Parts: sequence; C-alpha cells; structure tokens
Amino acid sequence: MVLPLVDQHRPKCFLCSRFFDDLEALRAHQESDHKDFVEFHSGEHSPAPGDVAVF
Ligand SMILES: [Zn+2]
Repeated sequence: MVLPLVDQHRPKCFLCSRFFDDLEALRAHQESDHKDFVEFHSGEHSPAPGDVAVF
C-alpha cells in the first residue's frame, strides 16, 4: 500500500491549494500572494468608504 504524498497535517492555502510546512509559512504566503484577500477579510473593523451594501 502506497500512502499519498499529500500530508494531511500540513496547512493548506484554501485560495490556491498549495501546502506549507507550518502556519507561519502559510500566513506569510497569504500576506504576500493573496495580499488583497487577506486585507479584505481582516479589515472588517474599518469598512472602506463606499463599500457598504444597502439592502
Ligand atoms: Zn495561496
């Protein structure tokens, strides 16, 4: 029986499906390669002007 090469315990970037050695490496990757996405989801305390949805 051959085990898959994918290590289930390693953190995976849900944006590009890449695996990283640890959470720090994943975080550094997301803050650089997915900078816009990270800033968007971490800036909920300060909504950008004109970005408010009205229902
Ligand atoms: Zn990524």
